[in-house]
Amino acid sequence: MAEAMAYNRIEMPELPEVETIVRGLRSPLIGRRFTGVRIGWGKIVATPAVVTHPLALDYHRIPCSQESERMRQVTHPLALNYHRIPCPQESERMRQVTHPLALDYHRIPCPQESERMGQEEFERYLVGREVLDVKRRGKYIICHLSGGGALIFHLRMTGRLQVVSASQPLDRHDHLILSLDDGNELRFNNVRKLGRVYLVRDEDEVVGGLGPEPLDDGFTPTDFADLLSGRRGMIKPLLLNQSFIAGIGNIYANEALFVARIHPKRKADSLTGEEIERLYHAIREVLRQGIENRGTTLRHYRDARGREGRNQDLLQVYGRAGQPCPRCGTPIERTVVGGRGTFFCPKCQRE
Ligand SMILES: [Zn+2]
Repeated sequence: MAEAMAYNRIEMPELPEVETIVRGLRSPLIGRRFTGVRIGWGKIVATPAVVTHPLALDYHRIPCSQESERMRQVTHPLALNYHRIPCPQESERMRQVTHPLALDYHRIPCPQESERMGQEEFERYLVGREVLDVKRRGKYIICHLSGGGALIFHLRMTGRLQVVSASQPLDRHDHLILSLDDGNELRFNNVRKLGRVYLVRDEDEVVGGLGPEPLDDGFTPTDFADLLSGRRGMIKPLLLNQSFIAGIGNIYANEALFVARIHPKRKADSLTGEEIERLYHAIREVLRQGIENRGTTLRHYRDARGREGRNQDLLQVYGRAGQPCPRCGTPIERTVVGGRGTFFCPKCQRE
């Protein structure tokens, strides 16, 4: 699947794109309070788990007093959890939980019932909290909340996160809508439904396993060499490994290896000290250039204001198979490394 994505040039936001989105979200979000939550597609909320019916986009419309009775007849492995919820909240939730095919509702597998409780938990925790800060870690967007906790977004493919006026028409792929106290809304749009939201007490529950930030001031060439020492795998898949180093994806890994003149299949432990230093600087250079150009838009990526990036015009090898190498004129080749489309100059980057 990853291969098909690369071939179709559907990019996944990487560090520069996520950084650009974060910079665009800071001003409209910091200091605002959440006043409401609408979840169009439950699985977008990974923590606490919210799962809604496949027809959930119509979920919130029809009031239904019979729901409550029907719910009591439901039995499932998690039924014990179900009975812990006080009744007034139960019936309130019932009203939110129907759709035009409500008569079929009791056929929905029961575990979804208890997971819907995650929606209440999500809403109850979030509403009224102020956004204290918006920052990036790897490819994650982290909103720190008043009273503790963090709301974390992972866009994955095709995910867009934008603050717009509540009066702007919704898109059918706006799967999570968070109302703000200034009349705007934070909308998480997700054509491919791969993006996720996490509401956690401690951000490390989500981002704790990430490797170092390549653009951190404290991240030195020596640190990078230390990371690489003893790693026997090929260098390109290693750069894509988020627990090794955070934020680099397929586009910028290709570009960095080209700038450093290192073949993507080189074994990490075969790199010389000089090559490691070149790669360290190349990674930082391509990421910084990406940020300066507000990210790379091949198809789906937009910044927090809906604008395309400009970095696609500056890519030297990614997506350029058959075109002349900007350094030596040799045609750029495309191969597959670790399941991902890989572009390189066979002359500048010798195996
Ligand atoms: Zn070349």
